[in-house]
Amino acid sequence: MGERYDVVIVGAGMGGLAAAATLAVAGRNVLLLERHNVPGGYATSFVRGEFEFEVALHELSGIGDANAPADLWQLMDSLGMTDEIEFIPIPHLYRSIFPGLDIRLPAGKEAYVQTLIEHFPQDAKGIATFMHEVFSLEEQLKELGEAFQNNELGASKILQVPLKYPAAFRYLPVTLEQVLHRHVKSIGARAALAQYWGYFGLPPSKVSFFYFASALGSYVRKGAAFPRGRSQAISNAFVNVIKRHGGEVLMNCGVKRILHTGGKATGVLTESGEELQANWVLSNADPITTARDLVGESAVEPRYMREIYSHQIGPSSLNVYLGLRGSMEDLGLTDHELFINEDYDFDSHHRNMRRIAPPKMMAVTTYNAVYPDISPPGTTIVVLTTLLYGEPWFALAPEQYLDTKNKMADAMLNLAEKHFPGLRDNAQVVEVSTPVTNARYAGTYHGGIYGFDQPPSNHTVLRFSPTGPLERLLHVGAWTQPGGGFHPSMLSGHMVAKQILKG
Ligand SMILES: Cc1cc2nc3c(=O)[nH]c(=O)nc-3n(C[C@H](O)[C@H](O)[C@H](O)COP(=O)(O)OP(=O)(O)OC[C@H]3O[C@@H](n4cnc5c(N)ncnc54)[C@H](O)[C@@H]3O)c2cc1C
Repeated sequence: MGERYDVVIVGAGMGGLAAAATLAVAGRNVLLLERHNVPGGYATSFVRGEFEFEVALHELSGIGDANAPADLWQLMDSLGMTDEIEFIPIPHLYRSIFPGLDIRLPAGKEAYVQTLIEHFPQDAKGIATFMHEVFSLEEQLKELGEAFQNNELGASKILQVPLKYPAAFRYLPVTLEQVLHRHVKSIGARAALAQYWGYFGLPPSKVSFFYFASALGSYVRKGAAFPRGRSQAISNAFVNVIKRHGGEVLMNCGVKRILHTGGKATGVLTESGEELQANWVLSNADPITTARDLVGESAVEPRYMREIYSHQIGPSSLNVYLGLRGSMEDLGLTDHELFINEDYDFDSHHRNMRRIAPPKMMAVTTYNAVYPDISPPGTTIVVLTTLLYGEPWFALAPEQYLDTKNKMADAMLNLAEKHFPGLRDNAQVVEVSTPVTNARYAGTYHGGIYGFDQPPSNHTVLRFSPTGPLERLLHVGAWTQPGGGFHPSMLSGHMVAKQILKG
């Protein structure tokens, strides 16, 4: 160290890694600093007993297959990472259980729509029209994104956007519910189509249709995948690319401050007291922590602070990681992704996420369903996940924490055992994580896993800008454009790196 870097990146989450890799491949002199001893942020795994658990990833979008690789795979391929990672396809996107309804939805445009129509023939036309809207919006968004990346949207052409991409323009300000309820009448069909809201954390009445449709369209058309070696394999592959291209990656190296003069970022001060100079600084820490703690509020425009505090922080998660004795068939859990819904009232599920209360909706992920050898023979890894807001967890007195966490884990096990008895009896390992765990691990404000919430006012192009509170300081990751999650966070890092490369 000691030299001046083109770019210093704070944090090796998906956004920081993708940015560093893009810049390194383009020949920039980059330094990536990560507080933890492993790269990845949430994209990592941990070991308990004989089990290695995936921390976060359920289903990765944007991979496609060898005949039709999708955008994320193409990005990784352009960086030279795809030889290092094997992606396992997930044939069924999800199974949903509601009172009186149990439906398993496959990947693939025709298969997905057909399965829904078979379950809800009275809504056949509405389902087909709704999905047509989803696919055309997703298609136009892809084209729009490519035009944007290729600089084809100069000032003179921007006025053509509404004419050329009418769906993208029309759906910018609306919620999922506004589109879904117009076309689909039965409660069951609406619920099955909206089930992925459980991934994003805002119910149909609140989540941006634009954002939801781009994710649903991508999952359905291009399928979902899971990497052999878990998400840690993706994180490691990014590090290898960065190093192969001469970049430096330092673990156990937290950044204490972002240095600046005259409103311009000039480098970083590490937690061990070293000052490093850079032309650009990218922050993969959340924007609140970046502005308040790393830059220092006194150096940030009050307008900027007001803006970051004005957006709703998105959800965190509560997870019960189970290492179970017995095969998945013995346990009756043969679906990779299963959602258990207590009822059809998603708005009340969402209100419930603001309290510390037993969840009304939960994902049950059986990794062995697509990745049989993810655990030792004769065992199964199952992870129960529910989304909830972090705030109430940070208001708990320290002496209440353990008891509260155990009660919540117990409630989630009860809900799972209503449908799949025997989980407790077969548990060899049980580990529980809460919003506090997430915040401690990735340093995110309130343990947020997707950054800010994604209503019609804060998604994709309208999402919180990557422009930081200082000149030459940019945000990467889930909190900024295009959105939260693995795939968008990687795109964010890549897009910001491209912005720097354009000069
Ligand atoms: C339980 C769970 C389940 C999830 N499931 C899915 C899923 O199925 N699909 C999906 O798409 N998404 C899922 N997500 C969300 C997804 O993991 C995140 O949106 C995404 O990984 C966030 O990436 P990021 O780039 O914002 O970085 P983060 O993962 O937030 O990482 C930021 C990194 O920066 C480091 N850092 C912060 N401050 C400093 C500092 N001062 N100095 C040095 N380093 C610092 C942190 O240590 C961390 O490594 C899930 C998340 C969780 C927790």
